[in-house]
Amino acid sequence: MTPAEFREAGHALIDWIADFREHIPEQPVRAQVEPGEVRRSFPAEPPQKADSFSSLMADLENKVVPGITQVQHPMHYGWFPSNASLASVLGDIASSGLGTLGISWESCPALTEVEEVVCDWMRQLTGLSEQWRGTIHDTASTACVTAMILARERASDFSKNGNGLQSVASPLVVYSTSQAHSSIAKAVQLAGFGQHNLRYIDEDPYTRAMLPMALSEAIRGDLAAGHIPAGIVCSVGATGTTAMDPVAEIAAIANEHNIWLHVDAAMAGSAMLLPEYRHLWEGVEAADSVAWNPHKWMGTILDTALFYVRDTAHLERVMSTNPAYLQSSADGQVIQYRDWGIPLGRRFRALKLWFHLSLDGIDAIQARLRRDLDNAQWFRERVETEKDWQVLAPVPLQTVCIRHEPPGEDGQPMTGEDLDAHTLEWVGRINDSGQAFLSPSLLDGRWMVRVSIGVEGTTRKHVEQLWDLIQASV
Ligand SMILES: *Cc1c(COP(=O)(O)O)cnc(C)c1O
Repeated sequence: MTPAEFREAGHALIDWIADFREHIPEQPVRAQVEPGEVRRSFPAEPPQKADSFSSLMADLENKVVPGITQVQHPMHYGWFPSNASLASVLGDIASSGLGTLGISWESCPALTEVEEVVCDWMRQLTGLSEQWRGTIHDTASTACVTAMILARERASDFSKNGNGLQSVASPLVVYSTSQAHSSIAKAVQLAGFGQHNLRYIDEDPYTRAMLPMALSEAIRGDLAAGHIPAGIVCSVGATGTTAMDPVAEIAAIANEHNIWLHVDAAMAGSAMLLPEYRHLWEGVEAADSVAWNPHKWMGTILDTALFYVRDTAHLERVMSTNPAYLQSSADGQVIQYRDWGIPLGRRFRALKLWFHLSLDGIDAIQARLRRDLDNAQWFRERVETEKDWQVLAPVPLQTVCIRHEPPGEDGQPMTGEDLDAHTLEWVGRINDSGQAFLSPSLLDGRWMVRVSIGVEGTTRKHVEQLWDLIQASV
């Protein structure tokens, strides 16, 4: 494809994307395809000859679009807001178009230095002090794997340079809660600790926050047994109910025992753009690493996960291998981001954040977050005051966990499997209809429904519509 052909096709593609975005509200929220349907619509053999752009676009429209669950739909309340602001989409296109290679500072100085700038802007915007340095990972999952490796190497005196964990006689232990995201257990497994050395610390039965006393006890127990407490993962906004572990108290315990503390604020990090919400991660300054996802509620398109550490010397010591072919005269004066994480090659992801912040502006982003927080409180009040409806957990942010608990056939409140069947039935009806999408989830072994508010296009009117739809579905 020549630049001239690219110009023509590119204009058409941008027009198509703008139309697609404008018409999302007319689409069903959840993809209505059967498993395998999209795959079967494609030829099994790869194309031999070039196809025309227009025929490719027709396939995009007819084969791909029906297989998209419209998470940008204003009636999408599933999982978490996965906003993809158009300003950041432009940054993504610029990143691809520039065709840069990020393997060292030398291979694209601008890629490294713009990443430094935007990570520092985001540091300031979330109220973190100057002791933190950041980098952009693909996801919070990768950030957590990195954090767990940093924890492992600190606790094992750099075992990676010798026989690895196989040379460590006592088990290294990590602490979190059962509310932590599944990526935490995955990181603990992949970093070599093993699932049996991940301790789920007791939680407050209502807030689901980690109980610091229980953490202290577990650490003392492990020390007495000759184990090595190596890492703590503290959730600021855990997945199920946005539970908030008490960071300050946990950090004090971590520091007392020299245990690496990673703060997973993947979802809730966006709220830290609002000064009035920063008390929710009070104590974060004493942690060792923090990760959060602008690619969720804030709305910088995937994949944009921020990872901050205080001790960059430790980070580089663990992540650097410094092969001869990558050494250069700039070493020592510049950041080599390949030594700040797992991959060598990196994309110019910083452009997405730069475009997003520059074109939308932090004022508008903050106003939207506050709108969503207000909508969540409005919705919580509706549910709480309606007969037979329960709000099952505190609502610190934009996720409301609800259940309809009507009287059963015997006149007593429905419980157990009957209640589970009822919950899955009404939420299934809504999801099948394509009118809205909600995620059912387990809480204390029983099904409930998470209403996660915060799509860019979701206004109060849509939340009202949702409440009407929910009441009509039971
Ligand atoms: C979404 C989420 C993650 C995982 O984020 P990815 O970027 O998809 O890996 C981790 N922790 C929490 C609390 C989350 O909400």
